[in-house]
This record gives sequence, C-alpha cells and structure tokens, in this order.
Amino acid sequence: MGFVKDVPDLRQRAQQAGVAVVVCVGYEVPSSRRAVMLAQKYQDVYATVGVHPHDAAGMTPRAWEALQLLAAEECVVALGEMGLDYYRNLSPHEVQEQVFLQQLDLALELQMPVVIHDRNAHDETMAILKEYCRLPGVVMHCFSGGRRMAEQCLDMGFYLGIGGPLTYPKNDTLAHIASTAPMNRILLETDSPYLSPQPWRGKRNEPSYLPAVAEKLAALRGLSVQEVAAATTANALRFYKIAL
Ligand SMILES: [Zn+2]
Repeated sequence: MGFVKDVPDLRQRAQQAGVAVVVCVGYEVPSSRRAVMLAQKYQDVYATVGVHPHDAAGMTPRAWEALQLLAAEECVVALGEMGLDYYRNLSPHEVQEQVFLQQLDLALELQMPVVIHDRNAHDETMAILKEYCRLPGVVMHCFSGGRRMAEQCLDMGFYLGIGGPLTYPKNDTLAHIASTAPMNRILLETDSPYLSPQPWRGKRNEPSYLPAVAEKLAALRGLSVQEVAAATTANALRFYKIAL
C-alpha cells in the first residue's frame, strides 16, 4: 500500500487541495477491511468493498463471507472494484466472471452502487451489466472505452470515472468523451496509487493531486475549476449517497 504511515499527512494535503471526501476502494478482503477501518476512523473517508478481477482466483467461501459482513458496515458506500481484466489475466476468465456476477448479485440485494473495473473486456463487461439494470448506480472507473461505449454507458445511466489519464498527452478519445459527456455523469477519481496526473506521472498518486484532473477538465469544457469541482463533488455525493 505504501500509505499506512502517512495517512494523517495525506488527509491534510487532500483537505488543503479542496478534496472534500475520500472514497477508499477495496480490491480484495484485506484491503476492503483496511478501507473500512480507515472510514471508521476518519469522518471524511468512506469505503467500498469488493474483489478486483486480478484477485478473483483467491475468492474462497470464507473470503466471500467476510466480504458480505464488511459490505454491511455503515461507512461502506459502494461495492467494488469488481469487473473483468482481460489485459493482465491474473485470474482465469471464467473465475473473473463468476466473482463479478456474485458481487453484482450482492449489490442488487443490498441496493448499493458498484465500482466497475474493465480493462480490455469492454464487450463482455457491458453484456453482463445489461443484465443488471436494477442496480442503483454504476461507475465505470478509469473509463477506457471508446466514444460508442461511452454513449452506451451514458444511455444506461452509468457514471464515467475520470482520472489522471485525462492529463496525459495523446489521449484524444478520452478528452473528447470528457468534454462532451453530461457534466452530471462525471466522477473524478485518483485510482491511487496508480495513474498520477501530469506532472506527477509515474509517482505514487494521492487525493491531493485530483485538482490537476479538474483543471484539465475545466480547460476542455471551458469552465472554471470551481465549477468543475462543485459539479463533480455533487455527482460523487449523489452517486455514493453521502450526506455531508
Ligand atoms: Zn481498477
């Protein structure tokens, strides 16, 4: 993780940068548990719990039980990361799919929004999500699809998670999508510790870098940074049903 020792500094830097709330995302049971513990400790931190497709193969019945218990905690605002990753293929496809479906069923049952990880599995992810139109919310975290997929997602009521890659050069497709999608469907995200925005690219990402993404989005859309910050903060609070 690399964050354990400097969480207080990290929060302070985030607050100074104007980041009102942090949603700490789990990717298997231990990290989901850590996210819940952080959220229970700090008032401005919330948690998601879930199993990333990379970790799907490690999903035992006992781990699943633990995840269900964590999902019931009050500070948990969504389930995920969950989804499919056919780029690195760290878990077999059929196991990824099975664990994804299991979590979607739980989200339906609990009526919680979901944070979706999709890498090189656009068609497969969309086909599955079409069967879950009764979910209360879907965010395509670190959206990496094309224009047509973005349109499909927006038609289905999904949010697009946009982070550091928006600030990278030669990212015309993402820039186009971010500048044309309805403003009320964009969530800014870090994907920390990955995908730091320029000029921190390659370094450990953290919430205080988020304004760099907001600045880029503001420039693309001809808005002020304050307007982008207000809109995307409102989107996040609505999506995760967080009352400040
Ligand atoms: Zn991810």
